Amino acid sequence: MSKYWSPIVGKLKPYVAGEQPKIANLIKLNTNENPYGPSPKALAAIREAADERLKLYPDPASTGLRESIARLYGVSVEEVFVGNGSDEVLAHVFNGLLKHERPLLYPDISYSFYPTYSLLYGIEAVEVPLTSDYRIDFSGYERECGAIIFPNPNAPTGISVPLEAIRRLASSKPDAVIVVDEAYVDFGAETAIPLTRDHPNLLVVHTLSKSRSLAGLRVGFAIGQRPLIDALERVKDSFNSYPLDRLAQAGATAAIEDREWFDICRQKVIESRDRLVASLKRLGFEVLPSHANFVFARHPDRNGAELQTELRARSVIVRHFAKPRIDQFLRISIGTDEECDLLIAALGDILARNSVLKERI
Ligand SMILES: *Cc1c(COP(=O)(O)O)cnc(C)c1O
Repeated sequence: MSKYWSPIVGKLKPYVAGEQPKIANLIKLNTNENPYGPSPKALAAIREAADERLKLYPDPASTGLRESIARLYGVSVEEVFVGNGSDEVLAHVFNGLLKHERPLLYPDISYSFYPTYSLLYGIEAVEVPLTSDYRIDFSGYERECGAIIFPNPNAPTGISVPLEAIRRLASSKPDAVIVVDEAYVDFGAETAIPLTRDHPNLLVVHTLSKSRSLAGLRVGFAIGQRPLIDALERVKDSFNSYPLDRLAQAGATAAIEDREWFDICRQKVIESRDRLVASLKRLGFEVLPSHANFVFARHPDRNGAELQTELRARSVIVRHFAKPRIDQFLRISIGTDEECDLLIAALGDILARNSVLKERI
């Protein structure tokens, strides 16, 4: 607290990002980055754009990138909004589309940026509990509301909801804005983008950080009908006209165009996930059914926070949330098969020591 702060600053609860360790040789499975690098064509495009032209402002509308995204998903350019990471897109969504007389609804266990943005923008939010098996059940969303946001697949559970349920939700709430945060959709869930054609209240948000391995470039986008996108443009142009620099626009466009690289990498992640789930289950873990590039798992005999600490002592970092209902779980990002094997070896070691201790007692 400082007397120089605007009053709201003291009330904010800033998002806490997963650790980006400074030490090398850690097996980093804590922030859902993609273990495979970005498309080589994206890297080439970034190098190509790094020249004298950087003295000029970039295209404020990111037209080329929006055209590529529009072509990929079969929508018009005017139905695509881009931003500096999907976190920035989401910030504009909260500010421009989710603040109404009636409350905003989102799951109680979900992306922890949602409560942060709600506080920042003074939005009244109500958290709707997941079911006992950690699923989103839309019957809990039948109450009065101005808007709804949820990730599909949900984070940190990895569980997805079927498209038909989203379609029914959007039809049953024609006056509420429905936002689907599809940060992980490319790893096995179904995108709701085609539903935006028939549902003027539906907005779908994507990121290039996960399935396109570009977390360091900071690019995200939203797709929806014109009135929703126009709101985001108005907020953006009242905030920062140039959210995407020249390098980001060039790299992101090339990454979107490189379908082949995208398909190879996400397929590898999906296969490694299946392998990791089987190994975790052999060690006695309960693993929630994941369609994301991470799994959410707990061991019936071991404390989640302790497991995280013991893994860290073995140079493996995973994410743990000290939050009721999920504090026994670890969120483990899908690495290469080699990284997943090292994680499993470390867990096997930790669990074996534990059972030796138990026998002695
Ligand atoms: C990673 C993530 C994002 C943010 O992605 P950026 O584009 O890197 O800002 C948004 N929503 C969810 C649910 C995420 O997990």
